[in-house]
Amino acid sequence: MTFKIANRASELIGGTSILKIESLSKLAGSDIFVKCEYENPGGSIKDRAALQMTEDALACGALKEGMTIVEGTAGNTGIGLAVVGKSLGFPVLVVMPRGQAHEKERMIGLFGAELRLVDPCPFKDPNHFYHTAKRIADEESNRYWWANQFENTSNYKAHYQNTGPEIWQQLPKLDCLVSVAGTGGTISGTSQFLKEKKPRIQVVLVDPDGSGLKSYVDTGAFASSGSSFTEGIGIMRLTQNFAAAKVDQAVNFSDQDILTISRFVRDEDGIVLGSSSALNVCAAFHNAYKGQKSRCILTFACDLGERSYSKLYDGDFLKSKGLDENRNMDQMLGSW
Ligand code: PMP
Repeated sequence: MTFKIANRASELIGGTSILKIESLSKLAGSDIFVKCEYENPGGSIKDRAALQMTEDALACGALKEGMTIVEGTAGNTGIGLAVVGKSLGFPVLVVMPRGQAHEKERMIGLFGAELRLVDPCPFKDPNHFYHTAKRIADEESNRYWWANQFENTSNYKAHYQNTGPEIWQQLPKLDCLVSVAGTGGTISGTSQFLKEKKPRIQVVLVDPDGSGLKSYVDTGAFASSGSSFTEGIGIMRLTQNFAAAKVDQAVNFSDQDILTISRFVRDEDGIVLGSSSALNVCAAFHNAYKGQKSRCILTFACDLGERSYSKLYDGDFLKSKGLDENRNMDQMLGSW
């Protein structure tokens, strides 16, 4: 067994474990694995993009000593940038929309970054968190460097150069890769690398309700209905990072299915999945259950349920959304 010895927290980013979800694998007759991205020092898959974007900006001179990193984020990229910023000596300003799980707001401060909250609004509104972060950097370009995770393809590169090769080394018999998308960096970088190695790997994009990516993959146009308690995933526009994704199929699952899977995996396997991770696992399980048997399927545990505590794991919240915590696996399978 090899152990990492690092000199700074950012050196611990990447090199994550793979865990087989034994309960679902048995039910489906195929092996279902998750890549444990919560092992990153900021607790999510977004640490990888945060590190690559920062290193590339330093290398090209866009980010210089004395500057502050600014980013608009649903939370996890802000936490990742805070870890990287502390490791490399840069303060971080995080612009986040109000209404995300409040434990994530608190974590921005916990990790030592400054938090600026803005009201949630449509993307075209100039006060959207994305435009607010850009404006801060535009107005004082000597003081701020804007990471721009949606359009900065260093994000995709993190997964093409690291996450993809790790998966290839860990699971060469992989048949199917399943992923949500927020910026699209994860699915683009990993799908492109893995299909170069093994073109027949099936890549499945999974969307929550309210996101238009499935419709974009199916028809070339963005359309959506409903809404979801998931955070940091689902989008209604094409980003540079998603544009490079090699997707074979797009699927969608409801918040009720996300909830049922999250409880089953917690109770059977002892893993408390975050909401995007539970959606990933739901889609991976569906693919395994409905498809050919004896395949090898991988998805991402992007973060853990502590970051979804006040939503996915809060009984009152779930009740207010009309969701049933007691709906069991048999009932879900019956509806499939
Ligand atoms: N899961 C969580 C919890 C996230 O925060 C994000 C990104 N915001 C994603 C998944 C999606 O990752 P990507 O941006 O690489 O598409």
